[in-house]
Amino acid sequence: MKIVLNRPRCEGHGLCEEAAPQLMHLDDEGELVLDREEFDAADAALAHAAVRVCPVAALRIA
Ligand code: SF4
Repeated sequence: MKIVLNRPRCEGHGLCEEAAPQLMHLDDEGELVLDREEFDAADAALAHAAVRVCPVAALRIA
């Protein structure tokens, strides 16, 4: 499975990073970087948590 970012929609809140720091982080300019777009079953809960907490629905799982 994979996390997909709708970049124009992302407002850099960083809540997703708090939910899944192993998978993503905000860079120095406040841009979200997906460290691991692909994730396995062990990280599925984290990935889903990141999607859920985003206030502007900029993340989805494909
Ligand atoms: S929580 Fe949503 S808006 Fe905020 S950085 Fe993550 S993807 Fe972007």
